[in-house]
Amino acid sequence: MDNETYSIAQVAKIMNAKAVLVNPELKIKKLLTDSRTIAAPDEGLFFAVKAQRNGHDFIDGAYQNGVRNFVVSEKGFTEKYADVNVLFVPNVLAALQHLAQYHRSRFNLKTIGITGSTGKSMVKEWLYQLLATDYNIVRSPKSYNSQIGVPLSVWQITENHNLGIFEAGISTANEMQALHDMIKPDIGILTNIGTQHDEGFDNRTEKIKEKLKLFENAKLLIYNPGYVKGIDMENLSIEQSFTWSTENAADLQVFERLNKNETTYLKAHYKSKQIELTIPFTDSASVENAIICWAVLLALGYENTLISERLTRLSPVVLQLQLLNGINQCSIIHDHYSTDISSLAIALDFLNQQNQHNRKTLILSDLNPEGKETAQVYQEVATLLKHKHAGRLIGIGPEISSFANLFDKSSLYFETIEELIAKLPEINFNNETILLKGQDRFGFAALGKLLTQKVHDTVLEINLNALVKNLQFYRAQLKPGVKTMAMVKAFSYGSGSFEIANLLQYHKVDYLAVAYADEGIALRKAGITLPIMVMSPEVSAFEAIVKYNLEPEIYSTEVLTDFIKALPANVQHFPIHIKVDTGMHRLGFEQQDLKSLMQILTHNHKIKVVSVFTHLAGADETLHDDFTQMQVQKYLAFYHELLTVLPDQPIRHVLNTSGISRHANTQFDMVRIGIGMYGFDAALPKSKGLETVACLKTTISQIKALKAGETVGYSRRGVLSHGGKIATVKIGYADGYNRNFGNGTGKMLVNGHLSPTVGSICMDMCMLDITGIEAKVGDEVIVFNHEHTIADLANAIETIPYEILTNVSQRVKRVYLYG
Ligand SMILES: *Cc1c(COP(=O)(O)O)cnc(C)c1O
Repeated sequence: MDNETYSIAQVAKIMNAKAVLVNPELKIKKLLTDSRTIAAPDEGLFFAVKAQRNGHDFIDGAYQNGVRNFVVSEKGFTEKYADVNVLFVPNVLAALQHLAQYHRSRFNLKTIGITGSTGKSMVKEWLYQLLATDYNIVRSPKSYNSQIGVPLSVWQITENHNLGIFEAGISTANEMQALHDMIKPDIGILTNIGTQHDEGFDNRTEKIKEKLKLFENAKLLIYNPGYVKGIDMENLSIEQSFTWSTENAADLQVFERLNKNETTYLKAHYKSKQIELTIPFTDSASVENAIICWAVLLALGYENTLISERLTRLSPVVLQLQLLNGINQCSIIHDHYSTDISSLAIALDFLNQQNQHNRKTLILSDLNPEGKETAQVYQEVATLLKHKHAGRLIGIGPEISSFANLFDKSSLYFETIEELIAKLPEINFNNETILLKGQDRFGFAALGKLLTQKVHDTVLEINLNALVKNLQFYRAQLKPGVKTMAMVKAFSYGSGSFEIANLLQYHKVDYLAVAYADEGIALRKAGITLPIMVMSPEVSAFEAIVKYNLEPEIYSTEVLTDFIKALPANVQHFPIHIKVDTGMHRLGFEQQDLKSLMQILTHNHKIKVVSVFTHLAGADETLHDDFTQMQVQKYLAFYHELLTVLPDQPIRHVLNTSGISRHANTQFDMVRIGIGMYGFDAALPKSKGLETVACLKTTISQIKALKAGETVGYSRRGVLSHGGKIATVKIGYADGYNRNFGNGTGKMLVNGHLSPTVGSICMDMCMLDITGIEAKVGDEVIVFNHEHTIADLANAIETIPYEILTNVSQRVKRVYLYG
């Protein structure tokens, strides 16, 4: 986030910090909160915020990345550096917010503040699309709406801007005041109220009241009265309100909604007239958000003819970037929604997380100036690329080409995407990670299609942000110093291989664990350097285990002797993990094996026991708590006995996901997180607090009308007794959709309606009863997502989420979403 106005000494004064400055005149441009994603470190101020993890622990990393300015609340972290400016404050987050608040107060641009349960980012981006011709707009990047995201957003304001659009998101009580004080909106928008974050509040009314605090002293509030039932809106200190509704009387009352092909026609009462428009979307969320934008533009005084013109041209908001497999062993990252510097920085960080290919290429179009001088924009891009080591640059467009002198000499430039496409055979992308970052008007979608393998119509989308949030959810429960081993066996529970491991490595988990050596080898070949434990090391794989520096789980004296024999003569202290069977009765040493194990280990220098662990059989259930205690006691007894013949203390670990949730007192030195990262925990009711990671989607191939008595599929098992309409969709048991889902046991979401299967599930297809539902060939069908969950599917066929997730077959393409 850029800003050139303040020296570090001024910042100290604004924050009322105790300052120790070696260079008080230094100008602070960027506010930094993540030590890993740092660009232009010399002009950055690092805030050691205490969130789930203590930001002070990342000061060394930030220093190594070149940062020399720090805001801290604890002593002992910066004293060892002689060349740093340090600001001491009682609360680092409050200081960050205070600085943002001060910065905001210097400008009197018009500001729109948006809050609500969903739709904040879509409404913000659409208002940007709708108003960008009339204003110089500054807005929250991506979904930066948190206690940290809002100050970073507000910090971007410069005197060139005359409109700010910021989103504010809260998850517990007493969070909104700070966001309000930074945004100070003139115009407020409440998108909607759903069940999200209910657990953070005493009740729904409290949640709504907290959200409404954003609008204190606003001149205008735009909302749907249906979402604020039971709240006295007259009591708010808001000058004027503008209401919309699809059911009741309101300033904008939408009374007609018609789907036509890919569009929705809307008709409404407004000021005793009837007005209408058409939007290029049909799904309910988009329609609601478009109505909100309609209301905002009316409230701002726009004529409906102009509004209608602009709303028909709305383009979809895709804030997350996508990672997928490309041609010639390439990995392709698509990010073609916005081209501003902050989103470029995020995309480059993601490019940097990729280790699977040594070579990296950035294909970048002309950027959006966002109220800055063109020369300044490209200077900033050049600095960013230098710091982020972005790899080879291919510039698309006249502007970026004209600034070629700022970039590496090996860069290539094309006036248009078509010129680049014509040169593709010569450029010959091969075995590299390619980031496509450019506006759709340049034709990036076409380039993307050429570079990605044809994605067949069933895809498993993996939300990497959700996975990280789930990881942090568990890490936040760990005692200081407890390590994390991330379980990535079975293609990370079906969700991916290096794609997940890259993310976990970037987020600094301590260990990875796989089931078989092949999985570990694949990760090593994709550049993963974390230690990797192999839980079922086969004799045939011992050589590869040594070669690829994998660490075997040893569960019997036979495996141990064989492994030691297989170690090359020059190898010493090779890391191994000892598995103890304390009641699971799967793999592991039992008490009676202890003596012979100790004999082999005594004075053995070929190997080094790095960890000793056991696995709990019933960590998720109260019913088994006594058994769990017994397992832990057995384990500890075994461990202490073993210790007598070992030179060092191996890492102790017993807890899996549910164990972390239920047995905090036995975290020992490390925990093993599996299914929790992917969004499930049998120990938490409805996996409360976890986010949905995976969404499986397919499409409709054909729709048929059936007469009463006609049958569907093999063995004629399906019948619609009164006749009706069926859709054939492109997923079958070979894709992992279990045959037990047949004959109505399984359901899928078709345009928002749960539709049961009809007849048996075929190998590559199955049929759904969509009688009474509006649908057409090519429509997307949801097999599972956050609404129709993997847990629902598991219940329907009496299995567990683990099986549903890992069964999604490898022929289903994975697409990774991030940002
Ligand atoms: C799979 C596995 C885990 C992870 O279990 P979750 O229930 O998915 O958290 C932990 N330890 C061992 C030994 C495992 O095999």
